Amino acid sequence: MPTPLANWNGELLPLDEVRVSVMDRSFLFGDAVYEAIRVYAGRPFLLAEHLDRLRRSLEKLRIDADVDRFAERLHTTLQHSGVQEGLIYMHISRGAAAVRTHYFPIASTTPNELIFVKELTREPYGDLHARGARVITYPDVRWKRCDIKSANLLGNVLASQAAVDAGCDEAILVADDGSITEGSHTSLFGVDDGAIITAPLEANVLPGITRSLVVRLAQEAGIEVREWMIDRDTITRLDEVFITGTTVDVLSVVEIDGETVGNGKPGPVTQRLRAAYLRLV
Ligand code: PLP
Repeated sequence: MPTPLANWNGELLPLDEVRVSVMDRSFLFGDAVYEAIRVYAGRPFLLAEHLDRLRRSLEKLRIDADVDRFAERLHTTLQHSGVQEGLIYMHISRGAAAVRTHYFPIASTTPNELIFVKELTREPYGDLHARGARVITYPDVRWKRCDIKSANLLGNVLASQAAVDAGCDEAILVADDGSITEGSHTSLFGVDDGAIITAPLEANVLPGITRSLVVRLAQEAGIEVREWMIDRDTITRLDEVFITGTTVDVLSVVEIDGETVGNGKPGPVTQRLRAAYLRLV
C-alpha cells in the first residue's frame, strides 16, 4: 500500500514524512478537532456538511483556523492524490506552544493543519453489509461534550477495542441511565413499527453527517422519524437496529451482546435506506 498523500500546513508530501513537534497541543492534550470524508468517484461526499461541522467544532474550542483556505488545500490534495475511491482525514490542532500549560498558550499559537487522502474501496467491509454487524454494549465513559468532533477519543478507543476483543464489529455506548447514545464511531438507529428512532442531537452525541442524511432520506421516503433515546433493556425487542457513519454508511446490526435482533438478518427498512444512500452516492 503506498503511503497516502498528505497536506501539512499547505505543503504536499507523503504522510510518513510529516513531522510535528511534541509540544503540539494535540499530542499533549488531544487539543484538536478532526473530520473524515468519503471520496466517491474522485469527489468528496457531503463536503459542505463536513466543513460546517468542522467550523462548529473549531468555534466551540476557540481554535482560530481559516476553514476556507483549508477547503482549498483539501481540493488540491485530493486532485494530486489521484484517489477515486477513498477517505480524506482532516485534523486541526491548536498548535505548538513553548510551554506546557493546561490553559491556552499566552502567546497565540498557529494551528497545525493536516489533511491526508487514502484509498478505500466502495465496500471496505466485504460482505458485512449483507450479513449484518455484531456489536457489544459498553459504558459511555466519554466527556459531556460529544457534540464536538474532538481528537480526544479515549472513551471511543476503549469501547472500539472492547468490540475487537469480543470478535465484534462495533461497540454501542450505554449512558448511566441505561439509554444508548451512539456507537464508538457511528450513530445508532432503531426501527419500530416502520418508524426509525435515533437519539436527539444534544451534547451527548456527535451530530453525524450520515445520520442527518439518513433522516432526510427517510423523510423523503415517507418513513416516520422519532428522535428519542433507545434503552439498553428494550433494544433487542426493536424490529431492526442499524448504525450509520462515514465509513460504514448504513449498516444493519443483527446481534447485540450475543442476543439476536429481529430474525438475525438485515431488515427491510435498513436495506431500503441503504439503497437510497447508495443511489445518492
Ligand atoms: N458518532 C461518533 C462518536 C463518531 O465518531 C462518528 C464518526 O466518526 C459518527 C457518530 C458518525 O458520524 P459521521 O456520519 O459524520 O461519520
